[in-house]
Amino acid sequence: MPYVVTRLCIDCLDRGCVEECPVECIYELREPTDNSLPRMAYIHPTECINCGACESACPWGAIFEDRELPMPYHSDGELNAAPERNPQQFKVAKPQIDSEGRLVVLPKPSREQVAANQAKWSKK
Ligand code: SF4
Ligand code: SF4
Repeated sequence: MPYVVTRLCIDCLDRGCVEECPVECIYELREPTDNSLPRMAYIHPTECINCGACESACPWGAIFEDRELPMPYHSDGELNAAPERNPQQFKVAKPQIDSEGRLVVLPKPSREQVAANQAKWSKK
């Protein structure tokens, strides 16, 4: 089963998962974004080889194997199929690089921040 990025990623998009993916199957929306889709990472369900490397790399705990999606995020599996349905709206996500060519590493969220993000998106 493919892995899935849940809504817990929305507006984070630090791309920590992207660096770990061996097959570049994590996508993001092209600019200007389609407002009907959230700004987050998307795992292409057919291209994903199910290696699991991205799951542990996500500091927000936003990635799950498809069959293990917790209840509040069940519909996010379908959301991840968007790059397959509408490839023209997406591009392969790349690690963030600063103006001097260095990899941008965002500060890791605290346990409290992760819990607050989970509480926020579990209610919607
Ligand atoms: S590491 Fe997690 S929060 Fe960051 S872009 Fe990937 S899925 Fe989103
Ligand atoms: S499970 Fe592996 S192949 Fe699939 S998105 Fe994550 S890192 Fe990429």
